[in-house]
This record gives sequence, structure tokens and C-alpha cells, in this order.
Amino acid sequence: MSLPSIDTAVTYPDGDLTSTGTVVLVQPLPDGRSAVVLDRTAFHPIDPVWPDQPADAGTLTVDGRAYEVVDAVIGATDGTTLHVGDAPVRTGTDGWAFVVCHLVEDAAGIEPGGAVVVSVDPARRGALSAGHTACHLASLALNDALAGLWTKEVAVDGRGRPNFDQLAITSSHILEGGSLDEYRIGKSLRKKGFAAADLPAQLAEVTAAANRTLTDWIASGAAISIVREGGRQGLGDRRRWRAELPEGAVEIPCGGTHLRSLTELTGAEIALDLADAEGAVTVTMRTTAHLA
Ligand SMILES: [Zn+2]
Repeated sequence: MSLPSIDTAVTYPDGDLTSTGTVVLVQPLPDGRSAVVLDRTAFHPIDPVWPDQPADAGTLTVDGRAYEVVDAVIGATDGTTLHVGDAPVRTGTDGWAFVVCHLVEDAAGIEPGGAVVVSVDPARRGALSAGHTACHLASLALNDALAGLWTKEVAVDGRGRPNFDQLAITSSHILEGGSLDEYRIGKSLRKKGFAAADLPAQLAEVTAAANRTLTDWIASGAAISIVREGGRQGLGDRRRWRAELPEGAVEIPCGGTHLRSLTELTGAEIALDLADAEGAVTVTMRTTAHLA
């Protein structure tokens, strides 16, 4: 068995829902399922390092037989072992090949060298793309609404606002039609100049301000795209989400899938919750996107 030496070429960043490819490797897993690696795929896998967007749903078709993909995860190999979802390195690390592992219950009939058609469930993908686009917009709108609570200079986002999202985020989950982000305001964030004590009294105004910003951006119908580096569509190549917002383009590093334009949404809003947790404050941002 020879392990892949180059990344899977991925076409989901361009919005593709189907692709054709060749089987590179079929690896049985300890749980009885098998990981199928192709040379190229439209199937979005979860990234175990930052598992924000879940895997697509869909099928692989080989010789007229459809195999349900029960999960898909980024795998990594340095030529000795294929790590399926438990790579010891970050996606994109030099010297490693990063591949989409399509997990199937029974891979009988799938052989290396065989031709495969990949089909992704369009409804789930569309809902996840809407959720992911809204999630990025919400993070920028939240940074904007919280800008007045900073008393010192800190790292800024693509719009020049203090980057609360990047500095405080602990987890992000993309849902169908929305997202759930958790932030932690602890000692170090307060030391960096975030006036945490003032947040509870301003929470309603912060939420309303962020929602006004979201409404304005969606009304602009801004174009959304994924900027790719590397030139050969490799899974491990860096990608950036780009939105042509009215006051200028903004980019955020991102490995997920997105809408192509904010005209695909009729609206989006956030809700914020605060909770005390052992000397820190947890902020939960629930974002809801409405598809046109
Ligand atoms: Zn993203």
C-alpha cells in the first residue's frame, strides 16, 4: 500500500457539489469502516484541528453503485502512516500530505485506480454555507459593536476594529442556517484592555448595533468569494474568505464553504448570552441566517 504524497485537490471552496476523481487509497479503520481517499473531491470534510464546519452529506458512486459517505474528515500522512482525524500537525504543515478521508461503512468494490463520482447533498451544503457566511459577518459586526469597550490598542480585524472575535474565541460551530460561537473573557483579555465590567449593562445596545450592521451589509448584496493560495487546489493550501463590503473588502482565513453573494440571504441576526464561569465570563453568540 502506498500512501498519498500530495494533497487531495478540493473543489468545495469554489462551491462545487459534484466532482469526478480516482481512488488513491482505501484504508480499513479499527471501527470496521473504511477511509476512501481520492485525487480530487467536492466533499467538504471536518477539520479536527478547528472543527467549526461539519462534514457534507452525500455519496461516492463507483461502477454504478452508490456508497453513502457517513462522515468525512481531514487525514494527514508523512509517508509512514495515514492519520485519520488525529494528525499530530496543523493542516498545511510542510512535509505532510493532507487528504479528504471519505468514510464509508463497507468499501467492498472500491479499489485504488477506480473512477469515482462524488455527489454532495445540496440542501445541507447550502444551509451550512449560509451559516458559515453569516458567522463571519457576525464576528465582524460584533467586533464593531464592542470597539468602544477597549481601553488599549490590540490586534485589529480586516476592518481595523479591535479583534474581539480572534482574541476571545474558544469554539465555533457552523450549523445549518446559523452558528454558535463561544468567547471567554478572562484575566488576560481584561489585561489587554477589554472593559469586561461594562459589558452586561451594554449587552442590549451591543446586540442591536451588531444587528443593524448585519442588516446594512446584507442589504448591500455584497459578493463573497474564497481566495486560494498554492495554485493546485491542495487541501492544505491557505484559503481566505473575502467579502466585498460597502466600505471595502474584508478577508478572514477560512477552510469552509460559503455563499457567493449576500443577495442569497434575506437577513441575519445575533443573540448574545453572558454566563459567569470560574473567574471568567463566557459570551455565547448565536447567529441565525435567513436564506432567500
Ligand atoms: Zn470560516
